[in-house]
Amino acid sequence: MFLKKTIIICIISINCIILINCNSATVKTKKSRTQHKCFHHSIQEERDHIFSLFVMAMTQQDWQTDHKNGRGYNIGAILVDNKGKIINWARNCVNATYNGTQHAEVRLVLKELTKKENKKLTNLTIYSTLEPCIQCAGMLTLQNSKRVVYVQKDPTFGNTFKLLKNYPRKVNASQSCITIAKEIDDAFSETSGNNIVEFLSSDQADKLYKKASIQLKCFSVRNKENREILNNAMEYLNQIQASANVPVITIQAIK
Ligand SMILES: [Zn+2]
Repeated sequence: MFLKKTIIICIISINCIILINCNSATVKTKKSRTQHKCFHHSIQEERDHIFSLFVMAMTQQDWQTDHKNGRGYNIGAILVDNKGKIINWARNCVNATYNGTQHAEVRLVLKELTKKENKKLTNLTIYSTLEPCIQCAGMLTLQNSKRVVYVQKDPTFGNTFKLLKNYPRKVNASQSCITIAKEIDDAFSETSGNNIVEFLSSDQADKLYKKASIQLKCFSVRNKENREILNNAMEYLNQIQASANVPVITIQAIK
């Protein structure tokens, strides 16, 4: 064969051809301007890279083209324990539930805390596709989350953990170092409007989320300790795809 087996050509749309080299997990698109900047000096940095791509891929699995109808916004979150095991996931469901509080992080926390054995989020890391709003940041802080890693900054509703800096409980929150995080920030800042949820249902955002999904599929671990973590994550992603959408959480009124 004249093509090396590590090179795959994916046609995402008529106008966009993405070349993927699965050995380096480096993806180049016509519009790509930023260079890969995650060097994975540590096992944790590489895990952050894997889970940042994962949470985007998981959100892309159920992509909503209309942010006003359907399930809700294209925002997702996952919960990972200190051994690198994904233990829960959720997507924004504000439309499906007719409930504006049903952000991905809120649903994630509610799903996790309804497990009998879990009362707090201590020692758990949340990976979210978007910087948490004040509602979610407050909930994650009060429930003793250890760390939050988000992909995209929210210039309007973000910066929330800094607002909570004088609060007695602290969460270590930071933006992911994956290249796509910078690309999606740049793409949003170039839009004329400032409606982030509208941007997140655009074709441009969809392309970046698809790119993240492909990078995850082609990810090659440098730290052998993360090999099993990546394999388990891919298995988990397939399980989510096979499962039905998240059941609606109902809160019963006390009579
Ligand atoms: Zn929120």
